[in-house]
Amino acid sequence: MAPAETRRHLLERASLILGLGMCACGAAFVLSWLLDLPALRFPVAQSPQIGPVLSALVLAMGIAMAAARGGAWREQVSRLVAAAALAALCVAVLAQLLAPVRAPLPATHIYPIPALVFMILGAGLVLARPGKRMLAAGVCAALGLAISVFVLVNLCRWRLNEAGHPLLFVMTMQAAVAQTVFAAALVCLTLAGLEVRGRVEAFVLWSAGAIGVACMLVWAFINWTDAAHVVQEAEQQTGNVSRLLEAHFELGTDAVNLVFDEVERALGTRSLDELAVLDAEGRRLAALAGALPQVRALHLLDAAGRVRAFGAARPQAGPGLRARGFFIAHRGGQRHAFGGIAADAAGAPTFTYSRRLSDARGGFAGVVLAEMEPAYFQRFYRSLELGPGSALSLFRADGRLLFREPILADPAEGDLERHPIFARLIALAPTGRFVGHSPSDHEQKFSNYRLAPRRAFVVVTAIGMDHLGAPFARRFMLSAGVLGALLALLGMAARIQLLGMRRGKALRLAEAASRLYIRSILDSVGSAIVIVDAGGRIVDVNAEWSKFSGENGGCGANYVGCNYLAVCRGVTGEDAKDALAAAAGISAVIAGGLEVFEHTYACHSATGERWYKMRVTPLAESDGSVVVIHQSITDLKLTEAELRRVANTDSLTGLSNRRALVELAERELAQARRQKYPVSIMMLDCDHFKKVNDTYGHGAGDLVLQTLAGIMRAVCRDTDIVGRVGGEEFVALLPHTAMQGALVLAERLREAVGAARVRSGGDTITFTISIGAAAFAPPMSFDELLTVADRGLYKAKAGGRNRVEAAGS
Ligand code: GH3
Ligand code: MG
Ligand code: MG
Repeated sequence: MAPAETRRHLLERASLILGLGMCACGAAFVLSWLLDLPALRFPVAQSPQIGPVLSALVLAMGIAMAAARGGAWREQVSRLVAAAALAALCVAVLAQLLAPVRAPLPATHIYPIPALVFMILGAGLVLARPGKRMLAAGVCAALGLAISVFVLVNLCRWRLNEAGHPLLFVMTMQAAVAQTVFAAALVCLTLAGLEVRGRVEAFVLWSAGAIGVACMLVWAFINWTDAAHVVQEAEQQTGNVSRLLEAHFELGTDAVNLVFDEVERALGTRSLDELAVLDAEGRRLAALAGALPQVRALHLLDAAGRVRAFGAARPQAGPGLRARGFFIAHRGGQRHAFGGIAADAAGAPTFTYSRRLSDARGGFAGVVLAEMEPAYFQRFYRSLELGPGSALSLFRADGRLLFREPILADPAEGDLERHPIFARLIALAPTGRFVGHSPSDHEQKFSNYRLAPRRAFVVVTAIGMDHLGAPFARRFMLSAGVLGALLALLGMAARIQLLGMRRGKALRLAEAASRLYIRSILDSVGSAIVIVDAGGRIVDVNAEWSKFSGENGGCGANYVGCNYLAVCRGVTGEDAKDALAAAAGISAVIAGGLEVFEHTYACHSATGERWYKMRVTPLAESDGSVVVIHQSITDLKLTEAELRRVANTDSLTGLSNRRALVELAERELAQARRQKYPVSIMMLDCDHFKKVNDTYGHGAGDLVLQTLAGIMRAVCRDTDIVGRVGGEEFVALLPHTAMQGALVLAERLREAVGAARVRSGGDTITFTISIGAAAFAPPMSFDELLTVADRGLYKAKAGGRNRVEAAGS
């Protein structure tokens, strides 16, 4: 597959996986609405009406992405669906940004991230031109990846003590799912750089990817539950502390109320002016207030705001008190009021608790004011030890700070009138939680707020997120490290596996190529080659052997596996001897007894004579296998026979020459000696041949000699050995013929020659021969026999020629 095609194919897969990931998200969101599982709800859907619709749209978009792979109508449908989902998501994000915060804990600035990712994916689908869809999906996946990286960078920045909190990023299942989807995208895009060859490689890569994604899912789920657990614990802890602070403060103010009751009772019998004299009753009330550790001082203010009694130290100048919020509230009819934290006359910060005093007609008579002792609260609050970054605060119901531990340098910074808790949340629920930056020290805090129903004050218990999330973050980082290492190992294992597979494949290809190479060499050899294993079975053959075996039979069509030794041993008839010798030789080479075995044999067929040379050698690097080569030597044998024939034949007459005649005759005589049968010989010579030559020419002489040879061949038997032993001298050795028979034959020959006419040019030549006959008498040699015959011939010549003479030994 070409690299571009592979990349397109992988991007298609990436798009499919992303689509399936979105399907999973959408299905989870839809289920969350059906089963009422708020934890899984679609993140941007704060409004109950839009939530299920958007969830269904995410699901539809996922299906569209997964299905949008080829086919014009599918692309159109998926585009329409994606466009609809995109539009809905835009509306949802806008609504998210503009809507009032309903659930304070989920970090609203985090939720749009998955929404944004879905939007980008949708935009990619909508904007993609036909044919470029997969590329767009890949680009979107890369953008999603970039967002994931952004989240991770934030995580690292948090690690460096800057803004950003992993608790919030993985606290929601949605974020975890989104991360997992992008991790899958990351895997796909990474794989897009690799060229995948074949199904097995794809299986290895995709299963490694699937395992990686599964690991990411498990990791995300574990972190999600861990974070949820941390948050739950923080909720419990801050909730309990808030309840404790509420009870503590209520008890403190209850005691102050008792003093206020005493003051009211004293005022019932005396006037404000009388009380202001600081008589015994006044001192009693001051002592009563002094006995309360939570009260620093008790003051009695008249209707004009002037301090009239009790306070040893004057809290503030007269007109200042008249303008304070609590005083105005009392003058307006409010019975109890808290005064926000401010510096007292001595410059120490304090807050006040006060009660309206009424005259007999119910008119405003003044205010009894308790200046609270911050050190009393500070001691108790510090004893709670919530860890670094924590803050315990008391507020008036409108958000004005009463007391805060740790104490702020500028108490006015602690006022939270515009803070979401006081601006919106308390109206929705009297108790709840909030995660956000503290306006006073700007640290991220997890806060629990609690409105005391009786006294109209609010307790806020805040724990620093850094402190709260530290153990979780340690576990998160550790598990992320382990997961990273695991994924790296997985990737490496997959890569090693792939490379191993590729190397193995290359080896197999090289092996196949070398086998082909060897095969073509074997098949090009003209000799029949067969490889036989240690058991005698045929392992391999070459093309020539197939032909050879086809002509000679034995192994049938299925050579491989056939037992060659058994076939050889089973041969009958005249070839049995050679076949048995071959089997024995092969066995000897297999057993190691012989280095090489060679055997030449004839294997004549109906079409002609054939000879083979068989050679058996061990196969190198094998466990007893041997190579058997049958080389045809028919041509050699035929040439050899021809050479032998030429060497033994007289070229002029075609009869045996002297050398061959001697050899044949000696063999015959040896046999005759053994078997004791008669042999006789004729030696003949042309009469006056010189004259023939001289008269008619040498060529005519040759014709005469050829005619004589022909007559000899015709007169003699096939078993007679006829040869030319000299220029115009011939010999015929007659086995199984006694002298009598030889003389008869000689006479017949002489007559036939005498009757013969040789035509040469215009001449007709007649000629005669003289013959000397002799009988073989053991232990005579052939030379001796010839000498005897020669004597007979001499006798015939001497006797006038053209006659036969017998010679005796
Ligand atoms: P005779 O044997 O009757 O006493 O007389 P002759 O003439 O045959 O005697 P000789 O043996 O002296 O002569 C043989 C001659 O045969 C000599 C030679 O020229 C001739 N001759 C030998 N070989 C050949 C041959 O191959 N071709 C021809 N044309 N002549 C040959
Ligand atoms: Mg002669
Ligand atoms: Mg002669």
